[in-house]
Amino acid sequence: MTKLLLSAALALLPPLLAASSSSEDFDYYYLVQQWPGAYCGTKQGCCFPDTGKPAEDFGIHGLWPQYTVCRRDASDAAAADFDIVSATRKRDWPSLSCKNTAMDFWSHEWEKHGTCSGFDQHGYFQQSLARKARHNLTAILPCAGIVPSDGATYHLSSVRDAIREATGFEVTVECNRGASGRRVGQLYQVYLCVARDWSVLINCPEPVNRQCTDKIKFPAF
Ligand code: AMP
Repeated sequence: MTKLLLSAALALLPPLLAASSSSEDFDYYYLVQQWPGAYCGTKQGCCFPDTGKPAEDFGIHGLWPQYTVCRRDASDAAAADFDIVSATRKRDWPSLSCKNTAMDFWSHEWEKHGTCSGFDQHGYFQQSLARKARHNLTAILPCAGIVPSDGATYHLSSVRDAIREATGFEVTVECNRGASGRRVGQLYQVYLCVARDWSVLINCPEPVNRQCTDKIKFPAF
C-alpha cells in the first residue's frame, strides 16, 4: 500500500517540476553586461584580433530570469531563427570567443535563458538591447572618472556608487583575474536587476559582489 502511494506521489512529480519552468515563476531579471577588455584579458583570451576589435563598450552577455528552470523543447529550437539581425545586435551583443559565432552565442542565450523569459525571441533581444541603451554603463563610469586604463586601479565602491547614482539602484558586480593571474580583480560583468514586469530596475539582492577585490582594474584594450 505504502509502495503504491509512493509511486503515485512520484508520478505527480514531473508535472510539478515542469511547472517551475514557466515564465510566470521567476522573481526578477539579470541583464548581464560584459567588459570585453576583461573577457579578452584572461588566460583563455578571446578571438580579437582575428575577428576585429570589439567595440569599446560593454556588450550584453544575456538576459537571465532568476529562479526558474528553462527547458528547451523542439518548438523553441525551431524558433531560433536569427535571419534578421540588426547592426545594433551585432555590435552590442558580440561573441568574443573564437569557439562560437554570434549566432551560436545568441542561440545559447535564447535557449538557456530566453525561452523562460516571458518574451518571444524577437522581444528577448529587442528588450535587452533597449534596456542596455537606457542604462549606458560606458557613459556612466567615465562620468565618475572611471576610465579604461592599463595602470589605474579603482575602488570597487566607487564603481558601485557611480552606477547606483546614475541608475538609482544597486547592481551586482563580477570580477575576473587578468592573464597574469595577479590578485587584483578586473571589472568583468555588471548585472542590472530588472523587475519581473520589466517596468523598472530594482536593487539586486545579495550577493552584490562576485570575486571582486576592494580595488579593481578596468582594463583598456
Ligand atoms: P551562460 O550559459 O549564459 O552562463 O553563458 C556562459 C557561456 O557563454 C560560456 O560557454 C561562455 O564561454 C560563453 N560566453 C560568455 N560570454 C561570451 C561572449 N562574449 N562571447 C561568446 N561566448 C561567451
